[in-house]
Order: sequence, then C-alpha cells, then structure tokens
Amino acid sequence: MRSLAAACHHACMSAAGDDIHRTRKHPPESSGGIIPQSQSSGLGRHPGLRSYLRFVGTFKGALVLVMACFAVSSGALAVLPVLVGELVQSLAGASGSAGAAYRYAAVIIGCNIVHDMTWRVGELLYREHLTHRGYEYENLLFRDVIEQRYPYFVGKFTGKISSYISTLGREFRDILDAACFTYVEQVIRVPSVVAIMFAVNVWSGLTFLAAVLLMMLVGRHTASLSFRAEKGLADQVSEMDGHVIDVIANFVSVKSFRQEGAEYREVCRRRRDVVVAARRSALWDIVFWMSMSVVVRYLVWPVSILLNLHLYLSGQLTLAEFATFLSVLVMFSDFIWVTVWEIGQLNLRLARAEEAYQYLFGDSADGGVAGLVARREELPDAPAPARPGRASGPGRLELRGLSFAYPDARARPVLAGIDLAIEPGEKIGVVGRSGSGKTTLVKLLLGYYSVPAEAVLVDGRPTPNDQLAAGISYVPQDTALFHRSIRSNITYGAAAEVSQEKVELAALRAHAHEFISRAPAGYDTLVGERGIRLSTGQRQRIAIARAFLDDKPILILDEATSALDSESEVLVQHALEQLWCGKTVIAVAHRLSTLLNMDRIVVLDGGGIVEQGAHRDLLDLGGRYRSLWERQSGGMISVD
Ligand code: ADP
Repeated sequence: MRSLAAACHHACMSAAGDDIHRTRKHPPESSGGIIPQSQSSGLGRHPGLRSYLRFVGTFKGALVLVMACFAVSSGALAVLPVLVGELVQSLAGASGSAGAAYRYAAVIIGCNIVHDMTWRVGELLYREHLTHRGYEYENLLFRDVIEQRYPYFVGKFTGKISSYISTLGREFRDILDAACFTYVEQVIRVPSVVAIMFAVNVWSGLTFLAAVLLMMLVGRHTASLSFRAEKGLADQVSEMDGHVIDVIANFVSVKSFRQEGAEYREVCRRRRDVVVAARRSALWDIVFWMSMSVVVRYLVWPVSILLNLHLYLSGQLTLAEFATFLSVLVMFSDFIWVTVWEIGQLNLRLARAEEAYQYLFGDSADGGVAGLVARREELPDAPAPARPGRASGPGRLELRGLSFAYPDARARPVLAGIDLAIEPGEKIGVVGRSGSGKTTLVKLLLGYYSVPAEAVLVDGRPTPNDQLAAGISYVPQDTALFHRSIRSNITYGAAAEVSQEKVELAALRAHAHEFISRAPAGYDTLVGERGIRLSTGQRQRIAIARAFLDDKPILILDEATSALDSESEVLVQHALEQLWCGKTVIAVAHRLSTLLNMDRIVVLDGGGIVEQGAHRDLLDLGGRYRSLWERQSGGMISVD
C-alpha cells in the first residue's frame, strides 16, 4: 500500500520543506511547477542553480564529508543480499557449516551497525555543518533583494517577492537535504542491485536492468503528468490566496458595504476550482504510483521469480545465488519507487526554484549570482555597511538640466531640463497640478531613480544617486510604519543607540509625546501593520519625530499635511516649522495654504518650471500660480 499512502500524503499539498526530513524514507510532499523538457538540462538555463552551486562551493569540504558518510552507510546495506545468500548457502545441506554461518551472521550484523553508525555520524555532521547553510542562503537572498533599488520594488508585488525568497530558500534547502539523505543512497543502490544481479546470472541482471530502464521511462512520463496537474493545483491555490489577501486588505470597504456574505460566497465559488484541481492532481498521483506498481509487481516479480526458480531447479543457480536474488528483489521493490519519484522531484524543485529566481533576479545585471557568492563571507560577522554620514556642507542644493522619464515610459519625459538652485536654509515650496511631476522630483532628489550625478549637486558637488539620501531627511506623504514599537519606529535608521530622553524630546517637538504617553504601553506600544492603529496625523508626527533624530541639513516634505483634519494639520504644521528651522527645505503640497511661509514657490508644469517667486509676487504675476490659488482659495486658506 505504499503507493496509495504516498499518493495521499503527496496530495496534501502542504508547503513541504520547512522541516528537513533527516531520516526520510518516503516520497516528500510537493506542490507546483514542472520544468519543460527543453529546459531541463544545461546549467546555462539554470541561473538559480548556478548561483546556488557557487554558494555550495564555499562549503564543499563539509558537503563531501557528509556525503561520504552516507555513501559508506548505503554501501554497507547494498552488500547485504550477497551476504544473506552466503549465509543461506552455508546452512544448506549436509555440508552446512555452523562456523561459516556465524561468520556471515556476524558480518551481516556488523554491516547493519556500520550502516547505522555512519548514517548517524552523517546526520550529526549535516546538522553541525550544513543545516544552517540553507538558511544562510535565504539571508543572502534577502540581502540581494533589499539592496535592490527603488524601481525594483515598484515593478513587483511585495507579497510575491517575499514568498519567492521563501520558495527559493526552501527548494534549495530541500535539494541539499535530498542530495545527502536520498540521492547518495540511490546512486549507490541502483547500480549495486543491477551489478549483483549480473553476478548472480546474466539473465537476472538483464531483467533488473530492463526493469530500471522501464520504470524510469514510464515513471518519467507519469510523474511529469502528475507534476503538471500539481502545478495546476498550485496555480489555483495561489490565485485563491491572492483573492483572499485582496479581500482582507480591503476589509474597510467590505465592512462599510456589508459585503461579508458576498465575499464568503465568492470564496466558496472559487474554492470549487481548487477542489477540482486537487482531485485531478490526486488522480495523476495515483496513476504514477500505479504505473510503478505495474512494472514492479506485475512484471519484475513474476518474470524474475519464475526465471530464477527455473534456473535454480535446473541446477544453473546455487542456493546462495537464489537467496541473494530474493533479497535483492525485496530490497529493489522497496526503494525503486523512491528513486523514480526523487528524479521527478528534483526536476520539480529546480523548476520552482528557477521560476522564483527569475522573478527575483531575472532583470538584474548580475542576476544576483555574483553578488550572492562574492560577498558571502561578509554576512555573518562583518559590520553593517557604513551609513552614509551626515553631509558636511550647509545644505545647498542645485539641479542642472535635470530631465527624467520613467523606465517603462521612456518616450514620455516627466521632467525636462529643470534648473534650480536652492540656497542653504532656503525654504522652497513646489506646486503644480496633479501629475505635473512634483513627487517624481522628490524621488529623484532622494536618489530612487538613476539620473546623471552632474544633474544634482549637493553643496556644489555632483552627487551619485545612491549617496543623495545621506544628506536629506524625508517626511513622506503617507508614512507607513513598521509593525514594531513606537520607539523603534522613531529611532528607525538612527546610526547608534538613542537614549529614551532623546526619543521623548524628538516626540515632544513633533507633538507626538502626548498621544504616545496615552497609548497602552507608551513608547513600547506596537503600531499594527503599516501603523494601522494610529491615525494619519499621528503617523506623520512619528515620521516628524524620526526626522528630528535624523538631523540632516536638507529636509524634503511630500504633501505632508494633505490628508489631515484641521486640528492635526495645525499640530503637524507647527511640528514641521520647528523641524525645518535652520534647514534647507523643499516642500511639495497641493494645498497652497501650507506654502505661505515659504521663501520661494516653484511652479511645475509640462515637465518644467514655469514660474517661481514669493507667494505675493506670483499672485501679482497673474499666471499659473494665481489660477491654482484661485481654484483653492474657495475653502481652505486664510489669506496672508
Ligand atoms: P504629482 O506628484 O505632481 O501629482 P507625479 O510625479 O506623481 O505627479 O507623476 C508625474 C507623472 O509621472 C504622471 O503622469 C504619472 O502618471 C507618472 N508616473 C508616476 N509614477 C510613475 C511610475 N512609477 N511609472 C511610470 N509613470 C509614473
């Protein structure tokens, strides 16, 4: 019943691999993906595997040692059929020798002990030297991902990035695990079975060789169909998961429109497709195990038993050879399923890993390969990369002919030839109608996208994009906080440990101390995912407190007060004015009321600066700013 049990087990579709099955002797669980035949060979087509093998190369000594243990262990079992045959022979007939029988029995017992001891030593060595490697690889994947630049994250689903990091880590952990615990064993056992059978008798050898080839052929085909069905199921499951995540993420809309029942019915409807796919997958599992069973039980057993019995009865086989044959037959029937299954599994694992790798690093210039391996040694002990220090200059910022188009819309420049010099301590307001490029300008100033270093000068020096943020504090439009304590959100990014006094002072100046003190655990209160337990105004004041600690000469505010009620707006506005004291400030806002105190207002339109000057002067000019002003002055602004 091994086949059905395994098939059911296999059909469970749980995320296999979080556990490392040290002593696994059964087909592992799996889900999803099958590699097309044309892609299944050649390392060039497997950049993910290439990356992993380079990583494995850094601990190959330990791997070889562990594999050697498992090889010895498997070898000790592989010779048992021969010894069993000799033992039976030594007992047979009148010539039976008790001494020889005991000797063979002792060797058989010894082989079992050697098998067990070397297996346990292998396990311990694996635990000591290899277990952590699989997880370390996942750390490296995370590092290669988090070091990617801003556009990388814009172009991908965050949930998918994280699940693919786990998939890639898990698949390669499973491959390492299977390489030690399963593949070595199969590589020793399959040839030894065939070799022993050839030694017994050439016809028996040919029978087993044919059986192995037939099983590989049939198994490859049925396993491929089974994995394809499994891929269909995995796709259905992930689509279902995506739907559920989408509904839960939009719980506010669900609640406000009372759509709980409708959403439940929709989930049930979609789940029916999952069930159909699961049944199909289970069917192909059964077909796979059945096809293996047909070869072993309906072909190998009858043909080989009748053949060898005939040879024995006609005096062409000794009793030892016949007993050896029987032992091999039992052993063969026990493990050959796993061999065929594991070959399919390896293809499946590689396909899933490559799919994940392609998503994560397919677009990178180095595919994540070079980075992963070349800097591996840095990971465990090296200090964190030096934080770009505080910019030394007083905060002069200059844009020279700054032009930009988004990578996916090269033909449509958002900014074209922007020239702007901002003196130290100057407060600049950036305005323009929606879509005029204000937020894009902020992204460029923060170095999120590549622009020529000569286009952005900080304190007179051309500044590479990746160093821009080092001299700039940023208070974004909508501050999404980490699901950590309020304290760690405020101190996020601080170079050194920050004392409680300093945190409280920053919170006081940001008008955040009062509401933090009222929170259940004060500064230790967890803020909920993305800061959901706090109001928009409270989140912004936390961001402002953070900017107080992150004391840099240039401050960028992006629509900082656009979504606030008037009480919060007053508090935030006051906190911001404290924050920008003595700094160069660039503030982006749709609500012109927030810009009245600026030294200069820059009006963006059509990708360029169309007007700039003080509020009063721009009103008098009667141009674009004035029309923006007139459109807004209806409700929100108390005029200067
Ligand atoms: P504003 O902040 O003034 O409302 P934005 O800077 O956000 O304007 O957008 C300027 C233009 O750039 C818009 O046409 C917008 O559609 C486009 N845009 C913004 N972000 C992206 C992006 N990631 N990829 C492509 N186009 C974008």
